[in-house]
Amino acid sequence: MATEKEIVVSGIRPTGYLHLGNYFGAIRNYIRMQEEFNCYFFVADWHSLTTHPDPKDLPGNVMRVLAENIASGLDPEKVSLYVQSDVPEISELYLLMNMLAYVGELEKVPTFKDKVRLQPQNVNAGLLTYPVLMSVDILIQRAVKVPVGKDQGQHLEMARNFAQRFNHRYGDLFPEPEAFNYGDSLVRIPSLDGAGKMSKSENELATLYLADEDDKILNKIKKAKTDTGSGEPGSPVPDSVQNLLDLMKLVSAADVVSFYEESWKNTGSIRFGDMKKQLGEDMVKFISPIRERSKELQRDTDYLKKIMKAGAEKARANAAQTLQQAKKLIGINYY
Ligand code: ATP
Ligand code: MG
Repeated sequence: MATEKEIVVSGIRPTGYLHLGNYFGAIRNYIRMQEEFNCYFFVADWHSLTTHPDPKDLPGNVMRVLAENIASGLDPEKVSLYVQSDVPEISELYLLMNMLAYVGELEKVPTFKDKVRLQPQNVNAGLLTYPVLMSVDILIQRAVKVPVGKDQGQHLEMARNFAQRFNHRYGDLFPEPEAFNYGDSLVRIPSLDGAGKMSKSENELATLYLADEDDKILNKIKKAKTDTGSGEPGSPVPDSVQNLLDLMKLVSAADVVSFYEESWKNTGSIRFGDMKKQLGEDMVKFISPIRERSKELQRDTDYLKKIMKAGAEKARANAAQTLQQAKKLIGINYY
């Protein structure tokens, strides 16, 4: 048993179409990690309920997130790919963990405060306890690494706190999970208008989706913000230009990127029209195969359901062991 693989967990909410942020913040890591680790990747359908999605839309959204993950290169034979609500053990541990979470600390979470501002008419208790559920998603599989984007860094810290708190009160059970990215730091893909990050449920026109058709991709990039001249030689690169260069680094050849970096830095002769055209073409080459494969997969719902079922079986088996141990430690141990 000495060589047992480390456990990895990560989830994506079925709140809309997956985008470049999801890909580079999360999925790209999943694809590499599936070779080395014992991976549990899931569609976080319970988490999506905080915004009350239309019940008619939910099944299609779940299927599409599964399809987009597989189309991006995730191999359901290598990982456990499942839907959160297919693992009821998570909800039981969530109930137990809520007893160790304090309302004061939950109210201070920045993403909660944002939601209070954005949806004041729907500040439900699920929003408040979202970090508890997210922690349980991770802890119930006893994960040590969690591939996520930068926006989730603080939630991971909460997961470590809850793990510590439980271990301290009841005895060692949970490892403390770390956020993970193969790069040096966690990734944040900004939206094309420079306002916030690319997102499934906001900034639609400034987010590049894995399902976008070619003309849409080209158009969005054409309209991306570059509210600046071509710059004096040596002047600092403005955020809007840096954003485009950063996107180029993800999908374009290295010499293309350095050409545009140099043309800003040295000559002040950067041509945004050309740069966007190049970025658009490279982005189309990157996105279109994923989009087409995903379409095929979404037509085969029987296959996707088979994957979900097999993934849930594996996830439940591991989760049930943790839950049983947690209950025993708490004293729910009567028979
Ligand atoms: P929503 O708007 O519904 O919250 P989202 O786009 O933020 O959707 P999530 O389901 O919340 O997506 O997150 C899934 C994963 O994608 C997480 O690991 C998150 O950190 C990552 N992620 C989301 N947006 C970005 C982004 N712009 N850059 C990098 N990573 C991101
Ligand atoms: Mg999000």
